[in-house]
Amino acid sequence: MDKLSLPRPGCCKWAEGDSGNYTFPCNVRVEAGVSYCADHAAIVYIPPEERRRSRPNGGGMNLSFRRAA
Ligand SMILES: [Zn+2]
Repeated sequence: MDKLSLPRPGCCKWAEGDSGNYTFPCNVRVEAGVSYCADHAAIVYIPPEERRRSRPNGGGMNLSFRRAA
């Protein structure tokens, strides 16, 4: 069992990696109902004008994570 294959409860759910092979390298603790630490939330919840400038390539999986909050 790869214990890095799922986000830890109570911890930041920031994911890195390719589809089917994600890791959750961020161990920052977050409050119940909060998906990401402050640093990663700032990356995930990018304002539309910022996202237009630097679009992630093929981030299909990221979309579902963005809705997890
Ligand atoms: Zn984080």
